[in-house]
Amino acid sequence: MRRFGIGVVGALGLLVAVLFVRAAPLTSKQLRVPPGPRLTIDTDGLTERLAGSLRFPTISYRETERMDPAVFRSFHAYLERSFPAVHATLERETVADLSLLFTWPGRDPSLRPVLWMGHMDVVPIEDASASEWIYPPFGGEIRDGFIWGRGAIDDKADIICMLEAIERSIERGFHPDRSFYLFLGHDEEVQSVGAEAAVALLESRGVELEYVLDEGGGFLVDGLSILDRTLAPLVIAEKGSVSFELIARGTAGHSSVPPRNTAAGILAAAVVRLEGNPMPANLGGTVRLTLDFLAPELPFGPRLVLGNLWLFETPLRYFVAQDRVIDALARTTTAVTILQSGVKANVVPQEARAVVNHRILPGDSVEGVRKHVVRTVDDDRVEVRILPRSKPRGPSPVSRIDSAAFSTIQRTVAERFPEAVLIPALSTGGTDARFFHRLTDSVYRLTPIEVQRETLQRAHGLNERVPVASLPRAVAFYSRLMEASAGPMLP
Ligand SMILES: [Zn+2]
Repeated sequence: MRRFGIGVVGALGLLVAVLFVRAAPLTSKQLRVPPGPRLTIDTDGLTERLAGSLRFPTISYRETERMDPAVFRSFHAYLERSFPAVHATLERETVADLSLLFTWPGRDPSLRPVLWMGHMDVVPIEDASASEWIYPPFGGEIRDGFIWGRGAIDDKADIICMLEAIERSIERGFHPDRSFYLFLGHDEEVQSVGAEAAVALLESRGVELEYVLDEGGGFLVDGLSILDRTLAPLVIAEKGSVSFELIARGTAGHSSVPPRNTAAGILAAAVVRLEGNPMPANLGGTVRLTLDFLAPELPFGPRLVLGNLWLFETPLRYFVAQDRVIDALARTTTAVTILQSGVKANVVPQEARAVVNHRILPGDSVEGVRKHVVRTVDDDRVEVRILPRSKPRGPSPVSRIDSAAFSTIQRTVAERFPEAVLIPALSTGGTDARFFHRLTDSVYRLTPIEVQRETLQRAHGLNERVPVASLPRAVAFYSRLMEASAGPMLP
């Protein structure tokens, strides 16, 4: 008995030792670089220029006839007034009527150009919520340390900070060796016609890009409760999207002599099976890359778990499934969004219809999701088809994290935000950037604007705003990234 006890203690001791050994050497992937130069930023002017940009209701609609081209054109003119050096130095072209493509030819044609991008359009204000805005959504008010208005965080702060950085670089007499593009889309929130046209135009000119940088959400100062540091996501891929229409057909008739299963009942059962059988979570892929960068920065407990996935994978999978944000990063999601059937209480409906939207994880595909849906529904009476007139899209390719561009961006983040933890990340939403994978294998998405989670949640919602104090650092980041990208880049 005693020997058995010693054996158990010994085995436990060995297990603990193994756990600690595996947790300890998780070496940090964060870079330490010397502090960069102090840059003088015209914070007041920058704040005014951003506030002014929010006074243009550059709303995009899926129904293009509802868009107001005049508002976009006056916004273009506003940019021209606000950034005269950019407009005097870079060539500006209009793409798909309302998007803008700026070109700054470099001195060295052997270097592949870089392209930064963002979007000028914003989502509409819902009539029902218009009265709940503290300040008018298109007023561009500067109050309480914030600039308020629709588009403040998505995505005008980003594009104004990029333009400001380029404007000041030109004033300092800077000229890149590498050619440089800036693309500003006009319909990112709806169809991305502008982005598709810009990619087609660049393709027709034989342009191959070194890297692309688009919006990435923001740097979260309170990103994780177990991490007392800013979380800086560098998005390397985005999920795809497909909607399926499920139609169950039965025989219409009087409800006094119903069939055993009506079309509505058959469809309901199919929907329940789909919700109950999500596609499997994948803790490899992009989640793995995120954890590789995050884990070494965490306190010992979580590090112990993440360093020993051979033992903790099952509990970790359980934990992941409990949080819908984390869960959405780890699997192709299933969301039942429309259910329709029946018109009258005493009439058995002939047909029932559901729409289910899936956001597709890199590694899965539109066809793979279709097979999963058909297999799970497993009922010949339910027709499954891609929702007519919808545009299914597969997940984007995953951009490299061993490229010179990735390390250049990472080094610049480390210089300007030394306290931040950079993580390669997956985006659950779609951006214009997905089209640019045709021009480079290095498409990244990052917004160097420090915000709280709460601020980010206001994007597309009520009382959108951006903290004034976060803007100068964003401009400094873009200035330094411009310099670091202007010549040959080191891996
Ligand atoms: Zn956006």
